[in-house]
Amino acid sequence: MADPEAFRRVQQRLRSGAEEGLAGLKEFLRLPTISTLPEFAADLRRGAQWLAARMQAAGLEEVRLLETGGHPTVYGHWLHAPGRPTVLVYGHYDVQPADPLDLWTTPPFSPEVRDGRIYARGAADDKGQVWMHLQAVHALLETFGRLPCNLKFLVEGEEEVGSGGVIRLVAQERQRLAADLVVVSDTAFFAPGLPSLSLGLRGLCSLEVEVRGPTRDLHSGEYGGAVANPLHALAELVAGLHDARGRVTVPGFYDHVRPLRADERAAMAALPFDDAQWLAAVGLESGWGEEGFSSLERTWARPTLEINGMWGGFQGAGGKTVIAATAHAKITCRLVPDQQPRAVLRAVREHLQAHCPPGVHISVREGEGSPASLVSVESPMVTAAADALELAFGRRPVFVRTGGSIGVVPAFREALGAPVVLMGFGLPEDRIHAPDESLDLDNFRRGQEAIAAYWLGLG
Ligand SMILES: [Zn+2]
Repeated sequence: MADPEAFRRVQQRLRSGAEEGLAGLKEFLRLPTISTLPEFAADLRRGAQWLAARMQAAGLEEVRLLETGGHPTVYGHWLHAPGRPTVLVYGHYDVQPADPLDLWTTPPFSPEVRDGRIYARGAADDKGQVWMHLQAVHALLETFGRLPCNLKFLVEGEEEVGSGGVIRLVAQERQRLAADLVVVSDTAFFAPGLPSLSLGLRGLCSLEVEVRGPTRDLHSGEYGGAVANPLHALAELVAGLHDARGRVTVPGFYDHVRPLRADERAAMAALPFDDAQWLAAVGLESGWGEEGFSSLERTWARPTLEINGMWGGFQGAGGKTVIAATAHAKITCRLVPDQQPRAVLRAVREHLQAHCPPGVHISVREGEGSPASLVSVESPMVTAAADALELAFGRRPVFVRTGGSIGVVPAFREALGAPVVLMGFGLPEDRIHAPDESLDLDNFRRGQEAIAAYWLGLG
């Protein structure tokens, strides 16, 4: 737990520098670092250089751009606390495109404060959160002349395009990045006013399926009824992937799934979550899924198999009496501890091959995979984070999980062997990736205090 007197001092420093801190964030948000569009490559490099200069100004050392072959990653550290833990802070300075531009109240790269929020692309995802960390470092160094623990910063520019470069970098730079803990601030509170720590992310793996029939498209009058239709065959295969209880039928699919403990289920059930409201928000009256599990359990702690796209045959206006030669599907599985992506991919491929209907051929291509990550709620690193959030927000955080995946997190676990704590300060209403993205300024200020309290507590 942070020493209350030390916390009070750094809190005061942060509060007296709040205006300057907000001005710095605005500068950061004016840089159009859109990684998904090639014409912004020079802006990303400028953004990385700008960030490097600000990291240096905040008091970090050895600040440099690490090349990834794409948009550079910015690195800097402060390592003068021997015997104290070393924390690697990860975030990203790249953003999603801003379209559709006409749905923004004010332009996406002209940050504006309205009603206690700052509006701009990247405000919550993830520049605002990266900036909170720099403000905390700066305030701690100004107040005490030193940091309570060792810190390394790794801020990448390719998160929105899959993190390929930084994933390779993490594997190559084990020495430089070695840490006792990785803290990722790129997530949101479970609800407004409810500080949250996410303990886990699901993993992900992907496959592509092609079903082939005749060597060319056929006239459905000449051949229909006498040859297998690849689209029918694919539909039959896909329909057989779940049973009536919503379970995936692939043998072995659930073999290594770690069951939820009673206390984990109780904690999830206690969260302020309204199933009907959650569904109504996307225009649905009822949910669907594996029997015996709640929506939160299904999305956080159970594996899934989803068809993300299916195509084949005639798609144009009007009709065309054709039997298409091929049919295609893209499939992904969300994974949970302790499933292994390669084993799941193999099981799904073998199942599809074994159940291919007669008269057609199937080929299945296994894609990429990354495992789930989960840190124990009993870990002292998690307790310290919870203490820090409580100190800054006046309320004990809830423990949640994240149904999605953050590309680089499995690489941290694999290369560094360090636990990953997801300490995010966004809110569900931040509209990340959408027009009018914004960040709550109260969370922005208290978030900086929570980060400073975390480092004080770990020290
Ligand atoms: Zn993000």
